[in-house]
Amino acid sequence: MKNLLDSPYVVRFLTVFTLLITGSFLWAQNPGSNHGTKFEQLGETLPDPNIYRGPDGAPGPEYWQQRADYDIECTLDVDNLKLDGKELITYYNQSPHTLRYLWLQLDENEHSDLTDSHHADPSSLRNTMSEGALSRLEDIDRSKYGHKIESITDANGKPLKYIINQTMMRVDLPQPLKPGETFAFNVDWHYYITDRMNPYFRGRGGYEHFEEEDDYIFTITQWYPRLCVFSDVEGWQNKQFTGRGEFALTFGNFIVKMTVPEDHVVGSTGECLNYSTVLTPAQLKRWEQAKTAKEPIEIVTLDEAKATEKAKKATNTKTWIYKADNVRDFAWTASPKFVWDAMPHFTEDGRRVMAMSYYGKEAYPIYNRYSTKTVAHTLKTYSKYTIPYPYPVAISVEASNGMEYPMICFNYGRAEEDGTYTERAKYGAIGVIIHEVGHNYFPMIINSDERQWTWMDEGINTFLQFLTEQEFDNNYPSRRGPAYAITDYMKAEKDLLEPIMTNSENIVQFGPNAYAKPATALNILRETVMGRELFDYAFKEYSRRWAFKHPTPADFFRSMEDASAVDLDWFWRGWFYTTEAVDISLDSIQWYKVDLESDPETREVSYPVKRDKPYEHISKKRNREEGLEFSIEKDEELVDFYTEYKPWETADSVTMVKTELYAETLSKKEKTEKFGDKNYYELYFSNKGGLVMPVILEFTFEDGTTKVERLPAQVWRKNEDKFSRVFVTEKEVKAIRLDPFRETADIDESNNNWPVMEMPSRFQVFKSHKTEERPNPMQEAKAKGKVIRP
Ligand SMILES: [Zn+2]
Repeated sequence: MKNLLDSPYVVRFLTVFTLLITGSFLWAQNPGSNHGTKFEQLGETLPDPNIYRGPDGAPGPEYWQQRADYDIECTLDVDNLKLDGKELITYYNQSPHTLRYLWLQLDENEHSDLTDSHHADPSSLRNTMSEGALSRLEDIDRSKYGHKIESITDANGKPLKYIINQTMMRVDLPQPLKPGETFAFNVDWHYYITDRMNPYFRGRGGYEHFEEEDDYIFTITQWYPRLCVFSDVEGWQNKQFTGRGEFALTFGNFIVKMTVPEDHVVGSTGECLNYSTVLTPAQLKRWEQAKTAKEPIEIVTLDEAKATEKAKKATNTKTWIYKADNVRDFAWTASPKFVWDAMPHFTEDGRRVMAMSYYGKEAYPIYNRYSTKTVAHTLKTYSKYTIPYPYPVAISVEASNGMEYPMICFNYGRAEEDGTYTERAKYGAIGVIIHEVGHNYFPMIINSDERQWTWMDEGINTFLQFLTEQEFDNNYPSRRGPAYAITDYMKAEKDLLEPIMTNSENIVQFGPNAYAKPATALNILRETVMGRELFDYAFKEYSRRWAFKHPTPADFFRSMEDASAVDLDWFWRGWFYTTEAVDISLDSIQWYKVDLESDPETREVSYPVKRDKPYEHISKKRNREEGLEFSIEKDEELVDFYTEYKPWETADSVTMVKTELYAETLSKKEKTEKFGDKNYYELYFSNKGGLVMPVILEFTFEDGTTKVERLPAQVWRKNEDKFSRVFVTEKEVKAIRLDPFRETADIDESNNNWPVMEMPSRFQVFKSHKTEERPNPMQEAKAKGKVIRP
């Protein structure tokens, strides 16, 4: 709302009494609709705490989780773009339940004809369509793709019964698996690798083909049949993989042997056990140097990578062996294109973590300078807010996408052909590296169920990404995190919105809902609602409690409150369970000075001193009739004047006493000294967006100085629609701004200022917006002959 009811320049006069009237009657209440909802406790909205998950948000005394170990051998067949594998899975039933079957995920079936997810989205035609969009309306033959299960046998080689339901496979156990027992079985399989640059196949993993040298970057992800999570919350989490909601995975230990052409360099989850056989002596030496280096050392150099790409394709193979403990997943990459660099990062507890990067020559100008150092910066920052990074390596691979796995992730960020790059490419690369390396924490270590709750990993991770970007560079152009950046989404039509607490598959605008909004909410909690100290402690405690476990939203909500003593139910309710937006309006202002001249009003209040004979209450009557012994009858000391005083017997009529309630006690001089110079501003606010939030005000005074006042969200508690509040100042106020640091995500700032500021209309914004080519100042400088840092 823009209009102000009263001009502030009309000073109203305020009569002051020594006894101030309380403010509780200033607003007429509107019972039943304007309060008692937004600040109520979440109560039964959250699941009941139990022996597995405590009321404080920590794992309960009987918390349990399953474990699955994998021993995998696989061969990459580059000629046929095929991966052959066999695995020995050892499943530990650590639950109190007896299991008759196990569920495994066959995620490659996402690319096959077995899943109906390709037909689960509506489509439509537009007047103009790109060739690509038109082609995608037709289906393709996917029968070649997906996991082909060759055999499933128990430890003695005896075949096990199984059934495949789209992306899920149930293996029936020959005998029930009791609590505390383990079951080992073998799965042999193969699949044809998909082109991850092809929109039909969506890009989490697969190959990218490079025409010039006719070679590939392989990213091998969700590639082996993997156990679903069986938990106290969900039983088996076997909701189908549609390509959207990501994964729910069980922790375990891995040994993986990958056989690849001998000119391929492998990067992987885990530690390599046989560098001495797969690297050249020169590379092995550089690897040893890298362990103590201050700057990233190229273990495979750019020249070596270029030479490998030019050489004839290898016909022999090498087997790389990796070991990874206590991980929920395992991914790897292979290519003859890779430059590989590494440097150590030392954790707070003194362990060496190798920060490493793999990238082709196309990404070299950005990745060689930034990738490995960004990995190390990310580990340092995330460790500060959570737990020390527990794994021995952290890897960033340039693969023209963004996807995360334990210890390894795939990112984008290629330079122009002339070696220059745009600002957008640079910050895009650093941002995605922070984000994907950050996923090591959420969900790889603090292992939430991604299939159900995207925000628990993407939202929390995007929040930490923002902190990490801002610690990388105070001027880092962060896209998500600041409150003002979410307002376009928050003011969208309601049918484009859903609460954060919505299943992954049902979200319309995935990025804003599951990444940006929760990241913004956490940032607001930290900066505006809780303060950094309380927030950081509680957030770290949540991370510590649930590291290497499976937390749920309630565990997060409860932990944040339990460790901080801040009641946040109103915040979770508003930000996570509704689609309401913040729009607080500063509706009007009244300016008062104290009236020093006129006499104060007096008011007469009467009260009776004489009472009529009271009714005898039933309990008094019965007590008397039952012959109860009263203390005053037994102890004379208890008897006084009033014991026997019966006012209705002493007078015939009611006597009223008149009193002046507001008698003055200050002299005019004293009153002038105390109140004479002060300004009283009564500000009226209304809640137009629905979300209750703290009210932050910046007062600018006539002499140009400013003062910030912060009211907590609870100021809305008694009336969630509107309130007024008086501010007393020595100096006259020239201007007032609501949310001056843009920290509450207020979607309409036109009602945030007094005097009202001119805001451009939406129309003007569009009119003044000009589309232009994204500039590449580096290229321009180079064209002008400026020497660019190599
Ligand atoms: Zn992510």
